[in-house]
Amino acid sequence: MALFERLSSMGHEEIIYYSDPNCGLKAIVAIHNTVLGPALGGTRLWPYQSEEEALEDVLRLSKGMSYKASLSGLNLGGGKAVILADPKEKSEAMFRSYGKFLNSLGGRYITAEDMNIGVEDIEHIYCETRFVCGVDKSHGGSGNPSPYTALGVFRGIEAACLKTFGNRSVKNKVVALQGIGSVGRNLAKLLHQQGATLIVCDVNVKNIEAAQLEIPFEVVSPNDIYDVPCDIYSPCAMGATLNDSTVERLKCKIVAGAANNQLKESRHGSILKSKNILYAPDYLINAGGLMNVSIEFEGWTEEKAQRMVNTIYEKTLHIFKIAEEKNFSVNETADFLAEERMRSLAKISGKFFPITAKSPKMP
Ligand code: NAD
Repeated sequence: MALFERLSSMGHEEIIYYSDPNCGLKAIVAIHNTVLGPALGGTRLWPYQSEEEALEDVLRLSKGMSYKASLSGLNLGGGKAVILADPKEKSEAMFRSYGKFLNSLGGRYITAEDMNIGVEDIEHIYCETRFVCGVDKSHGGSGNPSPYTALGVFRGIEAACLKTFGNRSVKNKVVALQGIGSVGRNLAKLLHQQGATLIVCDVNVKNIEAAQLEIPFEVVSPNDIYDVPCDIYSPCAMGATLNDSTVERLKCKIVAGAANNQLKESRHGSILKSKNILYAPDYLINAGGLMNVSIEFEGWTEEKAQRMVNTIYEKTLHIFKIAEEKNFSVNETADFLAEERMRSLAKISGKFFPITAKSPKMP
């Protein structure tokens, strides 16, 4: 598909490519929609196999951010960036150069952390631009968003437990967790503290070993995680892991995790529904990190952040209720509500929000 066609088919406003051969930086920024405000979303550093793979990832991720901000009631648009590099190639120069480039965008896109980007990298970006959040608390920022993302996912899991088992408690529930990185590890701690049993996989043995120092869990191979009999399957690694070759293997009652874009396609949400598996949409329950960084510009406090993130519990229950009443899959319901807010506010902001072919029609 030609590039402009691709942009409009997913409703994107802009894609910007940037390269700085002096430090090996190759970045793509995708701004999906700015109806609600400036586009905010993290930068992911990943050793993509091809430029096409990186583009596909940033397009899907940035669209997800528009929906996440909208559903969370935030006045922010959706954007995301990817840096095509091996994590071992990270350098101060790379992030300073990236910061200068972001500054040139004049605030249309504000960045934050995503996979393989740490607080130190954010500090280097912050040396060159103010259009970055998740800055260290010692500089008046909100710090690492992962604990807040994990708290939001935990609230989403509690809501799913109430709906499925009649009780929000995760005590004695078995959770199969895919990916024990920044969010996965914080989530595992919360689940363990509240009495859940964990079965974990990760492609990085070091992350497993580090987590095992503080949380007990059984380890399975990354390929076996889909077959684990459990109450809750929690994807906290890469996207698109709920696809034709995995959904039929799941032996859980709930899917609820942090990973962005877990469903390869929207129809995989309908397959989960038909299998009587309750899906808590990713961008609904993983919005805690975004909520946390969103208050950085107005003055971050721990109390404000926690209060915002805890609203994910009620919000998730509300969406489960509407989905049940309308007999819609939960992901379609969440999409509808997110699009409805953007569409209605587009009328007063003078911006354009496209009605995509896939927009669900709700009576
Ligand atoms: P991270 O890089 O710290 O952790 C990801 C973990 O997944 C790593 O340990 C990695 O080794 C592992 N992994 C990668 N591929 C895997 C596979 N195929 N099978 C098993 N494990 C695999 O990243 P993170 O910040 O914890 O983010 C995790 C997910 O949550 C990502 O999809 C991210 O976009 C999403 N997310 C993160 C935040 C945040 O605040 N960090 C917010 C919202 C959404």
